[in-house]
Amino acid sequence: MFGYQCIATDGKARLGRLQTPHGKVETPVFMPVGTAGSVKGVTPDQLIAAGAGMILGNTYHLMLRPGAETVARLGGLHRVMAWEAPLLTDSGGYQVFSLAHMRKLSAEGVTFQSHIDGSAVELTPAKAVYVQRLLGADVIMQLDECPPGQADHDAVAAAVERSARWARLCRDAWREPLTGAFQALPCHSTQGKYQALFGIQQGGVHADLRAASAAALVELDLPGYAVGGVSVGEGHEALCDVLDAIDDQLPRNRPRYLMGVGEPRDIIAAVIRGIDMFDCVLPTRNARNAQAFTWQGRLRLRNARHAEDAAPVDEMCGCYTCRNYSRGTLRHLFMAKEMLGPTLVTIHNLHFFSTFMTAIRKAIAAGTLKASANAWLAAIYEGGDEEGEKESEVL
Ligand SMILES: [Zn+2]
Repeated sequence: MFGYQCIATDGKARLGRLQTPHGKVETPVFMPVGTAGSVKGVTPDQLIAAGAGMILGNTYHLMLRPGAETVARLGGLHRVMAWEAPLLTDSGGYQVFSLAHMRKLSAEGVTFQSHIDGSAVELTPAKAVYVQRLLGADVIMQLDECPPGQADHDAVAAAVERSARWARLCRDAWREPLTGAFQALPCHSTQGKYQALFGIQQGGVHADLRAASAAALVELDLPGYAVGGVSVGEGHEALCDVLDAIDDQLPRNRPRYLMGVGEPRDIIAAVIRGIDMFDCVLPTRNARNAQAFTWQGRLRLRNARHAEDAAPVDEMCGCYTCRNYSRGTLRHLFMAKEMLGPTLVTIHNLHFFSTFMTAIRKAIAAGTLKASANAWLAAIYEGGDEEGEKESEVL
């Protein structure tokens, strides 16, 4: 019910296909983030029209509210989100280490304080798997320890060791037959056994720890592997250094997922180094701040220069927003704080990311990814309202 097939390569870049219980996904794929049971401000119909093929839900948020058992009783996360296409949940680890007030970290797991009611919540490898079984996504993630970006070698080494142990415990829990109360829940008596468990490589920017982490995971022979612990302030060059090694560290017949990375230049760099899956809040969060991605740079739609601009966000874009609304209208909606503004720009940004990934897949098939990527990145980062501002530093 789950599988990965590599269809073509261009250097280390891979054109592939994921098979899941809820359908196929062409890779490389970008997954919009549906944090707490919704991709903020857009309906599943709008997501599909914007080209989204697979989305992500956050276990941390859902286990605290409404609770994984409640989601299961409502028919599972697919049903709750009215999303019948492929779905991935993270383990909650990243949010525990970045958002929550952590109480205690041990060999067994982590105890943290809920940001909603202050109660103490324990997350262990077995519980992370159990909760994700209740949610019922097609791909679930191991619990891992995400050390902060500035952690030293010893601290990262300890996190790698702990994450490797937790990966094994998650694998054991994932292999357990479904029993007891779980089996009694509607719609979920069988779905759990079709879920694919991905391990997560840690190791920060340290090549030796990245290699050790990957080796420990590969031993477990999991359906897929993720690269975690990046996008924590290490910068583009350090990210590239980490990714340079992954094609040799992770098996070529399994999907590879780079967690939390969404800057177009990082996506390109990662695809070139053999990554297949991405997720990031960038297109949706920036949309809610009136920032639109285009092939000619980013637009700040609150900018006064758009007030009487009758052109769409992007003349080349075929999304619902660009077919129906001008920059001037969008600016007005944001200035008037109309909720339609964030919805419309979210639709456009998701369409941009989907189109961007389609262009990447076509270029891999044609064997022209590197040449195409240079031209795209020059246009994406040099034009728009932010020309000469911080975006130029990103190059
Ligand atoms: Zn558009």
